[in-house]
Amino acid sequence: MNIINIEHIAKIYQVGSEEVHALRDVSLRIDKGEYVAIMGPSGSGKSTLMNIIGCLDTPTKGLYDFKGVNVSEMSDNELAAIRNREIGFVFQTFNLLPRSDALHNVELPLIYAGVPAHVRKERARLALEQVGLADRIHHKPNELSGGQRQRVAIARALVTDPAIILADEPTGNLDTKTGEDIMALFNEIYEQGNTIILVTHEEYIAEHAERIIRIRDGLIEKDEKVLNRYVPQ
Ligand code: ADP
Ligand code: ADP
Repeated sequence: MNIINIEHIAKIYQVGSEEVHALRDVSLRIDKGEYVAIMGPSGSGKSTLMNIIGCLDTPTKGLYDFKGVNVSEMSDNELAAIRNREIGFVFQTFNLLPRSDALHNVELPLIYAGVPAHVRKERARLALEQVGLADRIHHKPNELSGGQRQRVAIARALVTDPAIILADEPTGNLDTKTGEDIMALFNEIYEQGNTIILVTHEEYIAEHAERIIRIRDGLIEKDEKVLNRYVPQ
C-alpha cells in the first residue's frame, strides 16, 4: 500500500526578485514498510523534499497524497494535525527539551495528541524501553551521552505509532561506533514493519536502507534498490 504518492511536485522560493527552483519535477511513491534513503549534494533539494514529505511545507506545484489524502493544499493547522499523528521526526541535533527528563521528552507528542496522563506515561515508558533506555527515564539530556539522547529522540518519534519515521542525518553528530548503534536500532524498527525515510550525506549510512533516491539540482537522478543492503548485527 502506498503511504506517500508524490506526482510532479515543484518548490519555488522567491528570494527578492529571484526565483529559486529548489525542486523542479519530482515524482515518487513510498510503500508501507519501506526503508528509503534520500541522498544528494548540499543545495540539491533534500531538505525541501523532507519538509514537504514531513508536512512542514507544501509544494508550489504538483500533488502530494499522504495515506490517500491530498495534503498539497492543506492549511498550516491541518498539516500540523497530520504531522502530530502520522510523522515521527528524528534530527541530527536531537532537539530535546533540555530541562525535561527522558520520559517527559517522549511524552510530549502524546500531550499534543490529547492522550490522558496515565496512558501517556506508560506509552512513553514502553517506547524508552524499546530503545534500550528503561534505566534512564528520569535522566535529563545533559545527563545522557549523544547516542542515548538520539535514542530518546527515536523513542519520541515512535511513541505515537506514526505512519512514517523521517530521520534527517540522524548520525551526523555521533562518532562512528555510536552512529552504527543508532543504525542498528533503525534496522530493528524497520524489521518491526515501520516505514523509514532517512536523509544522509554518507553512502555507507544510506546502504542500511533498501532503496536509495538520489537528488541533484531539484530532480531525482536515480531511484534504485540497494542490492546488498548493510544489515547491522
Ligand atoms: P543541508 O540540508 O545541506 O545540511 P541546509 O538545508 O541547512 O543544509 O541548507 C542548504 C542550502 O540551502 C544552503 O546553501 C542554505 O544557505 C540554503 N538555505 C536553507 N534555508 C534557507 C533559507 N531559509 N533561505 C535561503 N536559503 C536557505
Ligand atoms: P539540501 O537540503 O539538499 O542542501 P535544500 O532543499 O536546503 O537543499 O535547498 C535547495 C535549494 O533551495 C538551494 O538552492 C537553497 O539555497 C534553496 N532554499 C532552500 N530553502 C530555502 C528557503 N526557505 N528560501 C529560499 N531558498 C531556499
